[in-house]
Amino acid sequence: MEKYILAIDQGTTSTRAILFDKDQNVVRVAQKEITNYFPHPGWVEQDANEIWLSTLSVIGQIFDGGQVTPQQVVSIGITNQRETTVVWDKESGLPIYHAIVWQSRQTSDIVNKFKEQGYEPLIKEKTGLVLDPYFSASKIKWIIDNVKGARENENLIFGTIDTFLLWKFTCGQVHATDVTNASRTLLFNIHTLNWDKDLLDLFEVPQRMLPEIKDTSGVFGYIDPRHFFNQTCPISSLVGDQQAALYGESCFEKSNVKNTYGTGGFILVNTGDEAIISKYGLLSTVAWKIGNEVKYALEGSIFVSGSLIQWLRDEMKFFTSASESEQLAGQVLDSGGVIVVPAFTGLGAPYWNDSCKGAIYGLTRGTSRAHIARASIEAMAYQSKDLIKVMEADLQEKIPYIKVDGGASVNKLLVQFQSDILEIPVIRPVLAETTALGAARLAGLAVGFYKKEDFKDEKSERYEPSMNPEEVERLYKRWQKAVEATLLF
Ligand code: ADP
Repeated sequence: MEKYILAIDQGTTSTRAILFDKDQNVVRVAQKEITNYFPHPGWVEQDANEIWLSTLSVIGQIFDGGQVTPQQVVSIGITNQRETTVVWDKESGLPIYHAIVWQSRQTSDIVNKFKEQGYEPLIKEKTGLVLDPYFSASKIKWIIDNVKGARENENLIFGTIDTFLLWKFTCGQVHATDVTNASRTLLFNIHTLNWDKDLLDLFEVPQRMLPEIKDTSGVFGYIDPRHFFNQTCPISSLVGDQQAALYGESCFEKSNVKNTYGTGGFILVNTGDEAIISKYGLLSTVAWKIGNEVKYALEGSIFVSGSLIQWLRDEMKFFTSASESEQLAGQVLDSGGVIVVPAFTGLGAPYWNDSCKGAIYGLTRGTSRAHIARASIEAMAYQSKDLIKVMEADLQEKIPYIKVDGGASVNKLLVQFQSDILEIPVIRPVLAETTALGAARLAGLAVGFYKKEDFKDEKSERYEPSMNPEEVERLYKRWQKAVEATLLF
């Protein structure tokens, strides 16, 4: 009977279950969308119970039809949207408030107060992160301060989505997280690899609410048979989604980079054994811990990446599906001098300006929709170059090539332009499920189903730079000028 690893990929828009075989091939996939709630401008929430039920539902779908059975699953790995915060009562098992999603800005006031009090440098030094509502700490504080009776209730516990699912799967037996998820809370010291007492005091989060921190790959607990068709098996990895993609893309060595083009963009570079504190506003984070091996990463995010294509589709009505963007952009040889700076919600690293607005430059009477579509695709690549350059400066090393994934990475024009403008090769794996693969690999490693030597580069396509260096310099200078102008707007 063939054996499999089951990966759960609990993302912001959907929950997915993906079954991997011994050769790391995808055997089955199931997916269910998640509802987002926007109770006030800037607030984003989800129902943690819906997330839990969606997880059971996708697991059920995997075994529908009986071609594979739960007995064939040797282990489960969980990867998840990071930072999203759940506080629940360990007696009733019920969350006391919606899950506050990473995107939510409802805790800005808490964070601004700490900024005014000058806590930012200390927090950056300890956590590798910036003081921002994005991370979990202020979200936990907000829930405890705003839900009636919460501060006095000693039964309350906290978890990011990995922790909540693990607790549910084990029927409340295991309250734990892994270092990658802990490193996104703003309560975790990335040097000691433990919860930080000073930060807990600052955010007024009682230690008793926090999960135990474990390795990324290792047995966390066993799924209760009631949730797995009367079978059990170990849950042997918990890992944040971007770190999972780094592992799934085999970025095991220092200077290995993966770039995910999704709704937003996430670039991570492996910095080896060292947690580098960025001079340019990049985040320092734990990439994984497996036994004695701890790897760190620098991370940069792009607020608007594939969502620029969505905007062209939904608001500008340029096309009816994102994939048509490539066809339209392919009608012209270049952007005709048009530059799109998609600062819809300001610009992130390395600019950190949250008030500037987007702009389109270089319009002439001859500018067509094709030029604007092409310039939009190019904008994803230019923004990535801005981040790769500061990563090289922080690392003090040249990055030799990058690997790409995410929904927009199927766009060949984008990937070729990325290689041209970076002047290095860009490698795109044929398998799209790199995040789930990362979780499956880490889970399989823990139970001896996979060995580290099995984790070679997957089948991939390689794009080589083909633009002459003077042209690269000319184009990139124009992009930088356009960004400068945008920052003033
Ligand atoms: P997420 O995981 O953030 O939900 P995905 O990785 O599924 O996102 O990527 C979806 C994004 O990719 C969308 O914003 C969409 O506009 C963009 N996208 C999808 N296909 C293409 C394409 N062929 N060319 C450019 N962008 C695309």
